[in-house]
Amino acid sequence: MDKVSCSFCGKTEDEVIVLVTGKSGYICEACAEKVAIVAKKEIEYLQPKKTVEKIDFNSFKPSLLKSYLDDYIIGQENAKKSISVAVYNHYKRLTQLEQSNGESEDVEIEKSNILLVGPTGVGKTLLVRMIAKKIGIPCAIADATALTQAGYVGEDVESILVRLLQTADYNMEAVKRGIVYIDEFDKIGRKADNPSITRDVGGEGVQQALLKMLEGTEVTVPPQGGRKHPEQKMLTIDTRNILFICGGAFEGVQRIIESRLKRSSLGFLMGEEAKKKIESQDLLQYITSEDLRKYGLIPELIGRLPVLVSLENLDGDKLKKILIEPKNALLKQYQKLFAMENINLIFEPEAINSIVDEAVASKLGARSLRGIMERVLLDAMFDYPSKKAKELVVSQKYVKERLTQATSAA
Ligand code: ADP
Repeated sequence: MDKVSCSFCGKTEDEVIVLVTGKSGYICEACAEKVAIVAKKEIEYLQPKKTVEKIDFNSFKPSLLKSYLDDYIIGQENAKKSISVAVYNHYKRLTQLEQSNGESEDVEIEKSNILLVGPTGVGKTLLVRMIAKKIGIPCAIADATALTQAGYVGEDVESILVRLLQTADYNMEAVKRGIVYIDEFDKIGRKADNPSITRDVGGEGVQQALLKMLEGTEVTVPPQGGRKHPEQKMLTIDTRNILFICGGAFEGVQRIIESRLKRSSLGFLMGEEAKKKIESQDLLQYITSEDLRKYGLIPELIGRLPVLVSLENLDGDKLKKILIEPKNALLKQYQKLFAMENINLIFEPEAINSIVDEAVASKLGARSLRGIMERVLLDAMFDYPSKKAKELVVSQKYVKERLTQATSAA
């Protein structure tokens, strides 16, 4: 009589420990284990975990959120205030939806997505990260520069949601009320004034796709992203309650704002002196949706981002504070690193001034501070662990030497 064998791997009963009999075949222990792993993964992806902690919006009053942000973010008072209010209102809206159990209310609160406008390295991403952390909701950060229309090389707009899904550990209930931050949002502007671009691979097509997502729609996504796993089952994500925050530098928009201000009735009455003053001001604070439209965003998309917030340029004083004051300030981080070797790291005030001067010159906002600190402290971090020293005092001379050394080596 023929020996029975595993219907999956073909091994016979002599070659395996156990063969489980099914209706029309057999399975050995090794194959059963593999099947269990595959099934578990599928279940994890596809079965929404129902348990998601209710957000008690009373513990996230705007003033509380703002004072939490104050511990980490220097300046940007207006942005901290606006984002605290917008996020608070968003979760209040969700609570209203939950309480009404899907039945329509007389007054339905609409979603208020946010657009942050400000130069690079002034805290746009940090603002979003910190607020998501405080509330304890998943937050995905995506970059609009990589986005292209479906079918072109690059990432589809849906990929943003895959990231949120992964951040939320595939908990669909958490995904549905998460935050998505889309950085470099200005890069999707219509490229109308660039004659060399014949096909609008980014631009308006991407804006249309984003518009749908921001408005609230059901998007099907491959849970593991990409096109590498064609066998995966698709998941449907409802974006109605996801809070979208977009951010960008909108370089060059200042010119649009300036000419609008000068053309306005106010500008008409202005003398040359006042006009000069406009030119030297931080013009982004006057940005309106009209300026964004002129910049190349489609009006429907601007309409879906009703909270428009500008962030200020960081001057030397603010950069200095960023280096020293926040709860996890860079200086404190390096002091901690040295303290772990029992070394007291001290910066003389002039040394800090030189670091700040270098950061101001880089024009990269606070983003440059870490790189500068690394350049200043690299040698010390290399040498000190094998030294017996108890203290490192960083002087201005020390900073200048390291910085010129690092520049000439580069
Ligand atoms: P962007 O505006 O380009 O999104 P980021 O938020 O990514 O800038 O800032 C880069 C880094 O610079 C942050 O991780 C943070 O360490 C620091 N930083 C920027 N702005 C601030 C700020 N206002 N207060 C404290 N740290 C800041």
